[in-house]
Amino acid sequence: MNDHELWQHGIEKCRELRDSVESSIKPEYARLLERIICCKSELMEGVRFSGGSAICTECGGECCLHGKYHLTPADILAYLQRGETTIYPNFSCRPHCPYSNSSGCLMSGEMRPVTCIIFNCNLLERSFGDETKRAMGQLEHELRQTISHLNKLLGMRIDRPLLLWSSEQK
Ligand code: SF4
Ligand code: SF4
Repeated sequence: MNDHELWQHGIEKCRELRDSVESSIKPEYARLLERIICCKSELMEGVRFSGGSAICTECGGECCLHGKYHLTPADILAYLQRGETTIYPNFSCRPHCPYSNSSGCLMSGEMRPVTCIIFNCNLLERSFGDETKRAMGQLEHELRQTISHLNKLLGMRIDRPLLLWSSEQK
């Protein structure tokens, strides 16, 4: 399968996974996904609060090159929890991230891949005050813990790159 086929297959498998969640664990499944979205949103807010948005805009998204493997099934399940994915990747725009266009990332802040959310380059780190650093460290820890609980709940690793995970799904 080429990248686009892997993408389509991966999205379909994520939908199947969502639909197969047993009713007894559905409330916990929904709670964990909402917590993931919330942690992502609060981490993005921390960057904005420190003036990081302007720094990233000026940089132009250097860390977004080669973002192809950043997106995971966990990120897609969070999307599906809120409705549907509205991402139309372009796998021919190398070395730019396939989940971006000339205006930047195709995803709103709280729906971006965990890898993208938790990465802060030195330039960005230097803009954080001590209090922000501490708060963001705690949020990152909670985000990782929540994803780990979701892995356990579903009995599979859903925090792996979507395109690699997709290639292993029948
Ligand atoms: S995190 Fe750093 S490298 Fe990435 S876009 Fe922001 S300033 Fe640029
Ligand atoms: S998914 Fe969005 S934030 Fe992440 S690397 Fe791609 S363009 Fe950047």
